[in-house]
Amino acid sequence: MPAARQTAHSLIPECLLGVLLAILIGSSLWSWHALQTAEQQQTLARLKLETSALAERIESRFDQQITALERLAERWPVHRDTPDLWRHDALMLTRDYSSFQAIQWLDPDLRIRWTEPLIGNEAALGFQYSPEHPGYPVLMQIRDTLQPALSPLFELRQGGPGLTYYVPVVAQRSQPPVFDGFLIGVFRPQKLLAELTGSIGNRHLILDFSTAGERLFIHQPDTLADHLPAIQMPLRLANRSDILLTARPSQSLVRQSQTHLPEMVLFSGVLTSLLLVSSLWLLLGSRRKAKALRISNRRLQSEIAHRLDIEQSLQASQSKLQLILDMTDHSKDALFLIGLQPTEVIYMNRTCWVALGYSEHELRDLLRIAPQDVMCGYGKWIDSWQTSAAHAGASVSQQTLRHRNGHTIPVEISTRVLSRHCRDYLICIGRNNAAQLEAAEQLRRQSQQDGLTGLFNRRYFDQALASEWRRQRRQQQPLALLMLDVDHFKSFNDLLGHQAGDDALRKLASALGQGLMREGECACRYGGEEFAVILPGADAAECERAAKHLHRAIERLQIAHPGSPLQRLTVSIGAASLMPMAELSPSDLIRLADQALYQAKSQGRNRTCHAEQEQH
Ligand code: GH3
Ligand code: MG
Ligand code: MG
Repeated sequence: MPAARQTAHSLIPECLLGVLLAILIGSSLWSWHALQTAEQQQTLARLKLETSALAERIESRFDQQITALERLAERWPVHRDTPDLWRHDALMLTRDYSSFQAIQWLDPDLRIRWTEPLIGNEAALGFQYSPEHPGYPVLMQIRDTLQPALSPLFELRQGGPGLTYYVPVVAQRSQPPVFDGFLIGVFRPQKLLAELTGSIGNRHLILDFSTAGERLFIHQPDTLADHLPAIQMPLRLANRSDILLTARPSQSLVRQSQTHLPEMVLFSGVLTSLLLVSSLWLLLGSRRKAKALRISNRRLQSEIAHRLDIEQSLQASQSKLQLILDMTDHSKDALFLIGLQPTEVIYMNRTCWVALGYSEHELRDLLRIAPQDVMCGYGKWIDSWQTSAAHAGASVSQQTLRHRNGHTIPVEISTRVLSRHCRDYLICIGRNNAAQLEAAEQLRRQSQQDGLTGLFNRRYFDQALASEWRRQRRQQQPLALLMLDVDHFKSFNDLLGHQAGDDALRKLASALGQGLMREGECACRYGGEEFAVILPGADAAECERAAKHLHRAIERLQIAHPGSPLQRLTVSIGAASLMPMAELSPSDLIRLADQALYQAKSQGRNRTCHAEQEQH
């Protein structure tokens, strides 16, 4: 599964928990809101109920007042003739109900005749209602029906707004009754409403009385709770409903109606949601941890198994390696591994240090401190491998090692370069090849030696003469050659036998070899009973001296030769000496020496003839 998809997959539980938390908190908020709404509705219902009750009580209180006025009107026939009594009763009425501004008698001509109390109402005394007066239509209606009624709001003669309640009065208790005007109760609306609302002891509602959009009176016992709507209802006073009552809840009413239940529900809901979701989250986390632990345990177990496998294969490899090391230790060849840059001996088998007379530790130290003491030219040999040209594969080189006791050991070292992990290594196999070298040397010597006499043979002579020719030419030195031939050797064989001939040749060769005086001089068997002596740098005088020396040495041998005139074995010598030059060759020297030898033979033998004078 891709990593991004896996991450998205693993986030699903968190998302679900988030959704659950949102739903739970949403439910808590919804419950809180529903409870608050219910409480508000309850408050509104209570507001409505209380407003209605208040209105009823205000209306009933007003009815009480106008009923008292109507009862006073019933006594008019008595009062008509006893004004003092009327005054007394009217004053009593205004004292009982302080909302009365005045109690007045309006005569049938609609003129105010009496008024109590007089003080404050003087302006009204004698006032006659005209048809333009707002109360006039009401008065006309009452006169016709004899039913009391309330006037609309109008401006009083005393000043300020006022209301009047008109009660018709009759003059005497006669039939039919004689209309005698009206008994009027004058109210000031503010005072009336203040008295009415004050008498009912309201503390929770803010009451606003208005008519035709104009405020008459407001009763506010407490702070307004302006988040709730107002309740409006018309106030029915007597026969009129001109006054509109607007009731608003106060803070105390709201406080009384409200409980802490919504907040508690919200708080406990949110808390429970958080606790529930956090518990689920913790549970989820612990399940994840457990799962991760299981996975890591499985990984650990597989890692342990893998490591055990590796350990086993390592042990097997180590045993194989140990076996290989044991095998290599038993090898006669010296095996060693050298790391380059820096140069260090990585491995040596047992043969290395045993063959050189050291312990492993000693040899390692010596190779680190003074490797040239172990192998002559060690530094150069390593340097040759450090260069890139030497890195081409393998090579075999002959080296000389030094034993602990000082003697040298020739060793053929086969070396191969290998690169591993950005480093070059030399894999070396060393073999003591002293015997092979000796055998090779012997072979070489044999190939250059004459089998009968032990002197160098003709082949060696040719090589040596050519080599000396080149050397002397480089050095601008003369090269001399003596050619020797045994005199009358055929008759020697014939007289003394071939075996004796061989012996004589051997003795002669030995004398020749011992007769050489200077380094670089070389005696060879040229063929049959002929010998050649190379004398590098020798001029004619030296040739003479050397030839004489050889004649004396042969003479000293005193090999009897019955067929020779001197009764002993003698030799004739042809000597030649040349300055090697470009136009000449070694064969010229041989030819000259041969000619000189022929001359010596022809002059009687047992002598030396020189060719060089002829040359010059
Ligand atoms: P001259 O003085 O003229 O040289 O006389 P000469 O007899 O030596 O004559 P020549 O050189 O022709 O004879 C060479 C003889 O040397 C012939 C041969 O029998 C003998 N001879 C050559 N090689 C050997 C050898 O290896 N062993 C023996 N025993 N005799 C040899
Ligand atoms: Mg001969
Ligand atoms: Mg001869």
